[in-house]
Amino acid sequence: MKYQKPKGTADIIPPFSNEWQFVEQTARETFKLYNYSEVRTPIFENFEVFSRSAGDTSDIVTKEMYDFHDKGDRHIALRPEGTAGVVRSFVENKLYGPEHAKPVKQYYMGPMFRYERPQSGRLREFHQIGVEAFGSDSPRIDVETIAMAIDFLHRLKVDGTKLVINSLGDLDTRKNYRQALIDYLEPHFDELSEDSKERLHKNPLRVLDSKDANDQKLVEDAPSILDFLTPTAKEHFDVVKETLDQLGIDFVIDSNMVRGLDYYNHTIFEIMVNNKALGHGDVTICAGGRYNGLVEELGGPECSGMGFGLGVERLLLILNQELKDELQKNDLDFYVVAIGNKVKNAAFKLVQDLRSFNYRADQDYLDRKPKGQFKSADKYHAKYVLTLGESELEQGTVNFKNMETGVEKVIKNDNLEQEIKSLTEE
Ligand code: ATP
Ligand code: MG
Repeated sequence: MKYQKPKGTADIIPPFSNEWQFVEQTARETFKLYNYSEVRTPIFENFEVFSRSAGDTSDIVTKEMYDFHDKGDRHIALRPEGTAGVVRSFVENKLYGPEHAKPVKQYYMGPMFRYERPQSGRLREFHQIGVEAFGSDSPRIDVETIAMAIDFLHRLKVDGTKLVINSLGDLDTRKNYRQALIDYLEPHFDELSEDSKERLHKNPLRVLDSKDANDQKLVEDAPSILDFLTPTAKEHFDVVKETLDQLGIDFVIDSNMVRGLDYYNHTIFEIMVNNKALGHGDVTICAGGRYNGLVEELGGPECSGMGFGLGVERLLLILNQELKDELQKNDLDFYVVAIGNKVKNAAFKLVQDLRSFNYRADQDYLDRKPKGQFKSADKYHAKYVLTLGESELEQGTVNFKNMETGVEKVIKNDNLEQEIKSLTEE
C-alpha cells in the first residue's frame, strides 16, 4: 500500500463514527443541563501558550509537544490539551469582564496531539472532551464539575468507575509542602530516576507523578500534602468532601496524586476504571481540578478556574459492547427498487419524498438490475423496500416490503405518507 496514516493516528470510519457521535452528543446534552456552552479554539497556538500553562518541566512540554516554526518563524505548537487554549481565549476575549455572567462555563471537544509511544488507547492524535468553569472559588463548583463528569459517564452506561480526589492546597500549602518533600527526597537522591533528579529542585511535586517504579516506591512514604493544608485550604477541601458525601458520590483520597500539569491547586481529581480493555489495574479516563493561577499566568486578571479533560479513545474502549452493537447498526429505513428505465424519474422523486417524511432512504445509482438493487438493499440493511415498476407507475401505486417479516403490501401514492407511517409503526 502506498499511503498510510501517520504513526499514532487513527481513521474513525463508519459505523464506529456512530459511537463517537453518541459520546459527543451525550456530552453536549449533559453539559447543557449544567449551563455549559461550547467554545471552539484553534488546534494550534503559540508555543508559549502551552509552555506557560503546562509548566516547563511537565512531560507534555519537555517531551510530547508537536511544535514547529512556521514560514513566518513563529514558534507554533499543536495543542496537547484543551485548557490552555480555552484560558487564552477567555483572556483574549475578556470574558472575565462584568458583562459576562459568572461563572463562565465552557466545554470543548476535539483532537489533541502528543508525541508519545503509541499503544492501545494511547495515540499521537487523540481526542478530548473537556470543561472549564471560570470565576468561582466555591468548592461547590469543584463538586459540580466532578458530579457532571460522573453524570456524563453514567449516561454513557460506563460503570465500575472510581473517583480519586486530592487537594494541592493554596500557594502557602505548596511552599511548605515543597520544602518537606525535598527534605524527604534528598537523602534518596541517588536512587531517583534521571527525570526525578532533575525535577527534585525545579518542581518536586512532579516526582510524585513519576511513572518510574522505583520512584513510585520511594514516594509511597513521602509526607502527605494534606498535612500541610492551610486553614483556608483545609476548609475548602472539607466542603468538597462533605458535598460529595451529600450527593452520595463515593470517593477515595490519594494524597500522592498531583496530576500531570503544573497549574492545579486545591481540588484535583481523577476518575478511574478497572477494565481489561485498558490493561491492568485502575486506568484514568477523566482528570481535572482547580487552577486558580492560570488565567493570570496567561495575562488575565486574577480569576479562578475549575475543569476536567477526558480521553475519548479510552472511553470508547470501555463502552459496553451491547451499546456499541446498537450504535454500530447503520440501518437504512427504505431502499427504493426501480424496475425499468421508465420509472427512474418517479423512483428518484419517491426517495426524496421518503426523506421529507424523515426516513433514511436511498436507491440505486449504478444502473443495476432489480436483483442487484435488492442486493444493495441488503448490504445497506434496509428495513423496508419499495418497488416501483411500470405497472405500478401506471396504477399510481408502489409495492411495500418489510424485509424482516417478509410482509408485502401494495400502497397508493395519494396516501403514501399515511400508509408508510402505519406500516413502519407496526
Ligand atoms: P497519562 O498519565 O495516562 O499519560 P496524562 O496525565 O498525560 O495521562 P491528561 O493530560 O490528564 O493525561 O489527559 C486527560 C486524558 O486524556 C487522559 O486521562 C487520557 O484519557 C487522555 N489521554 C492523554 N494522553 C493520551 C494519548 N496520548 N492518547 C489517548 N488518550 C490520551
Ligand atoms: Mg501523559
